[in-house]
Amino acid sequence: MAARHSLRKAVPASLFAAMVCAATLGPASAFAQADPDSLSDRIAAAEAELGEAQAALATTYDTFTSARHRFDTATRKAQEAQREADEATVSARAAAKQATEAQGNVDELASASFRQGSVIGSSLTTYLGSRTPAEMMERSSLLNALGSEHLDSLGTLQRAVDEQRSFEATAKTSLREAKDNEAEAAVAKTEAEKAYTAATDQQESAKADTDRLLAQKASLESQLADTGAAAATVEGAPVPSASGVVKPTTGTLTSTYGPRGGTIHYGIDIANSIGTPIVSVLDGEVISAGPASGFGLWVRVQHANGLITVYGHIDQALVSVGQRVTAGQQIATLGNRGESTGPHLHFEVHDNGQKIDPLVWLRSNGVDI
Ligand SMILES: [Zn+2]
Repeated sequence: MAARHSLRKAVPASLFAAMVCAATLGPASAFAQADPDSLSDRIAAAEAELGEAQAALATTYDTFTSARHRFDTATRKAQEAQREADEATVSARAAAKQATEAQGNVDELASASFRQGSVIGSSLTTYLGSRTPAEMMERSSLLNALGSEHLDSLGTLQRAVDEQRSFEATAKTSLREAKDNEAEAAVAKTEAEKAYTAATDQQESAKADTDRLLAQKASLESQLADTGAAAATVEGAPVPSASGVVKPTTGTLTSTYGPRGGTIHYGIDIANSIGTPIVSVLDGEVISAGPASGFGLWVRVQHANGLITVYGHIDQALVSVGQRVTAGQQIATLGNRGESTGPHLHFEVHDNGQKIDPLVWLRSNGVDI
């Protein structure tokens, strides 16, 4: 938001002045008055503002993506914990059934003893009412009076009740875990929804801003070229060189960068037939060439200034990791691998870790797309 506002305030005044100057004075007068250094400064300022706008938008998208990731993780954990709780509950029920059976055996023993007028019988009926085997076992006088067969019955009861308690405790812990994770998932979901809405809103204004900045930059560059040409004939000053960026492939632009179907599409899609050449947009070094989750096969190229370009859903990689490539060199063929609904190139631009809008980046580097 801050970047967008500063962009509106800071740039247009100076850029507008330059445009008005060109429009009102006409080309000949503009050549005489335009200062190439000042134009270059204005282009650099426009580029910086464009970069800021791109970075702000990318940050908003990242906020959404990380909130969504947290939601997915918490939901999965909640489901796992719920499953564990269900399993423990089933086990606790089975153990309770065993305990009841064991209790029955002990009860039989007790009533038999009672019928025989044994002192053991009356003692057993007293303590068995409580169903707390640990306490029962502590009664050493009673235990001393019991035979080994009777001790076995009590031991079975003890184990069954212990087991039941242990499963019940597990079920309780798992249920609490499930509840905690469900709460975390709910918070993350709200955050993700908020971030997605913000991203969608911001997309519109960011697009308007970047479109305007690109137009202004193009206008300034054409003035600079004119001035340079005029100066070259007059003073021999050098004409500015082109940015040297090459379009990654030919075809139809079918999808752009930004919110798409509840997620963020971090690249642009260019559709064409399978086998269409894909080239590196700039000089660089190949850092990935092979399988990639979602992309089927991909190639990633590291360029200067922290820039990385990504070429996804390719049919074949024609380069290998560590290989140096030059701008315009073919690195792959267009394909339809991975999560793809038709042959196309998915192209991304990462500027120092931030996935920026490739269309804006290509256009700001003079690529006609
Ligand atoms: Zn794509």
